[in-house]
Amino acid sequence: LFAGQSEFLKGVVAMSGLPEADRVEVCFAGRSNVGKSSLINALTGTKGLARASNTPGRTQEINYFTQGPDLYLVDLPGYGYANAPLAVVEKWQKLLKRYLSGRQTLRRAFVLIDSRHGIKKVDDEIMALLDSAAVTFQCVMTKADKVKAKDLDKVMEQVRSALSKHPAAYPEIVMTSSEKGEGIATLRSIISGID
Ligand code: GDP
Repeated sequence: LFAGQSEFLKGVVAMSGLPEADRVEVCFAGRSNVGKSSLINALTGTKGLARASNTPGRTQEINYFTQGPDLYLVDLPGYGYANAPLAVVEKWQKLLKRYLSGRQTLRRAFVLIDSRHGIKKVDDEIMALLDSAAVTFQCVMTKADKVKAKDLDKVMEQVRSALSKHPAAYPEIVMTSSEKGEGIATLRSIISGID
């Protein structure tokens, strides 16, 4: 599945802009700067595919990437911008809600969590949204190379405990480092197994 090329298809700002629901898709969510672009680039083996999420103009779009002919990878806008105007935040929350609850072909959401920081309030809010939309989600820890083993244990404990409160959470957590390539093959095989 990940042998083929990945290509940017389009950025979507309204439900009417979504591509035809003709194949399985998985989406990626996370706080801005969590390492989402780096992870998508590592997964697809395509440098510069996912733009840094703070590129002006792209931050509020749902970005679609093709991965071969049978899969869409969907990059959701990074959340938790401290100084985003309220109107902007509300607009994308509305789109996000509609997307998550209305997209028939969405099979799983990957919620990215920074290994140094664990789950923050905004992450918990996204997870609650996924619960209510009944979208199964799986946590992916990012930047694992930045954390010492014993600190990682502590963070993982916090993450597991938070996940236990979310009915839509998938129990297995994936540890990754886009920098070192750790966990990338695992994540590819998880995505390949989704149908
Ligand atoms: P995004 O805003 O979520 O798309 O985050 P980016 O992918 O742009 O990454 C944010 C910052 O974290 C950049 O400076 C990346 O180089 C860095 N980063 C991303 N992934 C890793 C990783 O696995 N290890 C390390 N050490 N740094 C990373």
